[in-house]
Amino acid sequence: MTNNSFYAIIDKEALKHNINYLKNFKNKNILPVIKANAYGHDILLISKLLYDLDIKTWAVARLSEALDIIENFKKFKISDYKILVFESIEDYKILNENPNIFPSINSIKEFKVALANNIETERMSLKIDLGFGRNGILENEIESLKKLAKFNDWKFFGIFSHLFSATYDDGLVVIQKFTDIVNKLGKNKFELIHLQNAASIFNYDIEIVTHIRTGMLCYGLQEAGYYDTNLKPVLAELIGKVDTVKYLNELNYVAYEELCSVDSSCKKIAKIKIGYGDGFPKCNKGTYCLINKKEYKISQVTMDNTFIEIDDLVNVGDKVELYHRPNELKAKTGCSALELFISLSPLRIKRILKD
Ligand SMILES: *Cc1c(COP(=O)(O)O)cnc(C)c1O
Repeated sequence: MTNNSFYAIIDKEALKHNINYLKNFKNKNILPVIKANAYGHDILLISKLLYDLDIKTWAVARLSEALDIIENFKKFKISDYKILVFESIEDYKILNENPNIFPSINSIKEFKVALANNIETERMSLKIDLGFGRNGILENEIESLKKLAKFNDWKFFGIFSHLFSATYDDGLVVIQKFTDIVNKLGKNKFELIHLQNAASIFNYDIEIVTHIRTGMLCYGLQEAGYYDTNLKPVLAELIGKVDTVKYLNELNYVAYEELCSVDSSCKKIAKIKIGYGDGFPKCNKGTYCLINKKEYKISQVTMDNTFIEIDDLVNVGDKVELYHRPNELKAKTGCSALELFISLSPLRIKRILKD
């Protein structure tokens, strides 16, 4: 740990705890969503931790994310883990070369093209569009799917939809429609049946699903409006060290121009080596960080550095903790912990395991 860089500390025990808690809470399996660099937690690190927890099927949004994982898992058996990709994949060469990529089938046309390109139905997950209008096979296409000549021979990897709901009752209608469709096609044809993401996990119990499909809750991130104190933050700390300490009157030059906004009682400024180039955005200006158990105000965020109003208790090399009150981030910065963590640069902020 040289150069006073900042690190995100990943708590493996918290991940394990959350997964086990969620499993028991709903009595369903978990399909962890690890898109967007595992919500900023490091997709390669998290996929490996999940693998070690014997959870070996993961979901991502993009093909590029799946390929990144496969590259990193070269020494593992390809049949050992599965990656469900939400976006439509039109590159059948890549699909044929990577049998552990499990595509979503987002329309009947896609289904037929995939079959024509020798993709086994056992790898496909049918995405059903229940009116959310993003994409998927429509309700009125289910009959024609059933009428296809080989339908009775097919088994699929999965079937899923998106549980959107403006109101509680709308959600119940979606659940009923989904349940009817799965039963119509034959529940036993699908290994994975899933409908809920974080928001709907607290609202509904759904009999027919085999898995709950969530990213946020695995990482202990909470949606506004819901709060489960049993979940633990997996990104436990964002820490670094004080790089330099200067008296304000030493800083009267151009680069620190904007520091004129500092409190008139403040005499000293600490510089830390994190800025919006690291994914620590300017909305953190005016919020507080933690040094030696005392909170200090962040007075400026630049691309590479951040400046903190300090007192005589702070010295070069002292540990600095950012985002130490994750539940208050939204109110203080306008951005949720989820958005801020996802922004953290994969290149400049290393994720390291606790202990
Ligand atoms: C991102 C995503 C999820 C995960 O949602 P959370 O709110 O993190 O639980 C689930 N399903 C789909 C289709 C997604 O794109």
